Amino acid sequence: MNVLSQNTTIEETSELFQTIASAARLEILLAIGAGEACVCHLESMLGYRQAYISQHLMALRKAKIIESRREGRYIYHRLRKPELLDVIRQAAAFTDSKTLAAPTPAKDCCCPKCIS
Ligand SMILES: [Zn+2]
Repeated sequence: MNVLSQNTTIEETSELFQTIASAARLEILLAIGAGEACVCHLESMLGYRQAYISQHLMALRKAKIIESRREGRYIYHRLRKPELLDVIRQAAAFTDSKTLAAPTPAKDCCCPKCIS
């Protein structure tokens, strides 16, 4: 018998860490944690191509880590549970450098949140 099948919490926690583990996804989560954001806003914050960011957003949404809402032409993404930021910050505290740089503000972004 598979031990893990009796202990879905462990399995789910492992999946959660695997899903968020890449540097790009951590950056996206930290950026979204600073306030809900559309893909063009994330592009101007992080400097990645939109297609690359969208691909990660899709995986994060599928894993129910983020949720999205549409407003006009824009789709805004946010953390489903903002407490995830604490988990990431606490994980960073175990590293040698100990602190996470604050997300850089978006520049040259023309989403409604930036131009309003
Ligand atoms: Zn923006």
